Amino acid sequence: CGIVGYVGARPALQIVLDGLRRLEYRGYDSAGIAVIDGSVILTEKKAGKLANLEKTLADRASDGIVVGSTAIGHTRWATHGGPTDRNAHPHLSADGRVAVIHNGIIENFSRLRAELEATGVEFVSDTDTECAAHLLAAEMRVLRESGAEEGPQLLAEGMRRTVRRLEGAFTLLAVDAAVPDAVVAARRNSPLVVGRGKGENFLASDVSAFIEHTREAVELGQDQVVLITPDAIEITDFTGAPATGKEFHIDWDA
Ligand code: GLU
Repeated sequence: CGIVGYVGARPALQIVLDGLRRLEYRGYDSAGIAVIDGSVILTEKKAGKLANLEKTLADRASDGIVVGSTAIGHTRWATHGGPTDRNAHPHLSADGRVAVIHNGIIENFSRLRAELEATGVEFVSDTDTECAAHLLAAEMRVLRESGAEEGPQLLAEGMRRTVRRLEGAFTLLAVDAAVPDAVVAARRNSPLVVGRGKGENFLASDVSAFIEHTREAVELGQDQVVLITPDAIEITDFTGAPATGKEFHIDWDA
């Protein structure tokens, strides 16, 4: 339902939580976040209101979740699987390296799930989304095995290969523990905007999530993938060909 991503130099958790708060008007049944700290992904997700998630996070204040400067956050409106902690996003790959959040519906998820289960992957939720996390991890593994260098480009290529296999409507955001300063996102039939900052960049389902930080935005086109790092915004289509979004300035008051 609501989606926010951040990469930069500031503690990302609060920025992402504030962004989710600004998307609260859309309605949701659960909320979750993933923060990269060093080379570890820390996640927390809770059914219920954001306040519920924040309460749980406050109890974890001493771990790296509050200092990491790359994060993604989601408020969920359940379509596949009940509104439980377990079904809330982010969803992780089995090795815990990749975290994914998703708005929309992956229509061919049961076929993908069966295919992944046949390779030994164990699913831990009832969502359509979880297959995207496992697929992304598998695609990245194939790329690594074929000699691709670790880094943001590997994450972006993994995402392109993943979304080429998906049918339906999706805004997907993903982070990888081995790629600490990047968030990759893709969209089809579901909104996604980038907020351009200085030494930091934002992703969201709606500009209101980042309007207090920047007024320079880029609206992604249909079937595009965007990779954000603190200093760059790189857009391609699903095959990897360079693409451009629609640049605009937000001039209304938040
Ligand atoms: N279909 C996904 C789920 O049920 C995402 C729902 C949403 O857009 O929040 O988990």
